Amino acid sequence: MTQTIRMGLVGLGKIARDEHLPAIAHTEGAELVAVASRNASEEGYGHYPDLAAMLAGQPDIDAVILCQPPQVRYEAAREALLAGKHVFLEKPPGATLSEVDALVEIADQQGVTLYASWHSRYSAPVEQARAWCAGRALTRVEINWKEDVRRWHPGQEWIWEAGGFGVFDPGINALSILTEVLDDRVRLIDATLHIPAGRAAPIAAEMAMATAGGVPISAAFDWRQTGPQIWQILFETGDEHYLFAQGGDDAANTASGEESAISHEYRAMYRRFVDLVRMGASDVDVAPLQLVADACLRGTTCITEPFEDME
Ligand code: NAP
Repeated sequence: MTQTIRMGLVGLGKIARDEHLPAIAHTEGAELVAVASRNASEEGYGHYPDLAAMLAGQPDIDAVILCQPPQVRYEAAREALLAGKHVFLEKPPGATLSEVDALVEIADQQGVTLYASWHSRYSAPVEQARAWCAGRALTRVEINWKEDVRRWHPGQEWIWEAGGFGVFDPGINALSILTEVLDDRVRLIDATLHIPAGRAAPIAAEMAMATAGGVPISAAFDWRQTGPQIWQILFETGDEHYLFAQGGDDAANTASGEESAISHEYRAMYRRFVDLVRMGASDVDVAPLQLVADACLRGTTCITEPFEDME
């Protein structure tokens, strides 16, 4: 009989409660046994104030799920890997590329699994988009990812701080889809980052990219979108097009009792994580993070009007 993977989760915030806890509960071969949170506790699991206490209190944990903001994830991932635990990283896998590289090396040395998750890659339309693009000569790709930050990230201060990614927090989801759908490597050409006065992270950004074969790709990310929310990627050939469009209220739809699109993504990710652990393999693709890092390296920064969470 295959052994169940005993998991401990760190960072009991929005995504942990909305998606990780239910997804683990639905995954055969996975069991959540402990939660480390500075502020909250959850019925039914061992509760610890931090990762070190969790590892000391329940040394038989096999895997650690990290759901904190990216700025604090490296230290926790390193600690868990050095304790011989498999690690599941929420997206983005780190605040820098070099720290993710360092984690890959540690996981390798320890002989444990490191999984850099990209939930948007598991949405059903991604496979359809891949199938449509395969064998077609694309002429253009256009990303429009525009949402209301007050609606989706209320009170999340970390997201505006250095290493919090700002509008690239949702934007990197689009880039994870792009780099999954296209077989060709994508490079950054230029970018503009709009940063509210007094903040460290952008509220909007435009990126110009191209595939190795020269197909132009534009991306417009904006957190000031009120009204209809837009998560779209248009793939074009000379005379045909395919529109990837993601459902907006996916997380909210969970309340209706049906499996929402995002829940489907998280369940698929846990199945993948369990498989990786059983195969003794890791899965760390930094292509989306690399494009964001390049946009910050190469881009022009414009300071825009200050942003306040409450209007
Ligand atoms: P969140 O609601 O702010 O929760 C993050 C949790 O991390 C906090 O509740 C806190 O948990 C813990 N934490 C540890 N150190 C922290 C620090 N220095 N500052 C703030 N929190 C700290 O954020 P979230 O929306 O769950 O996002 C967490 C990660 O998941 C992000 O990387 C995000 O990109 C990713 N993600 C989010 C969504 C979404 O829809 N929200 C979707 C997909 C992926 P404790 O109080 O328990 O210690």
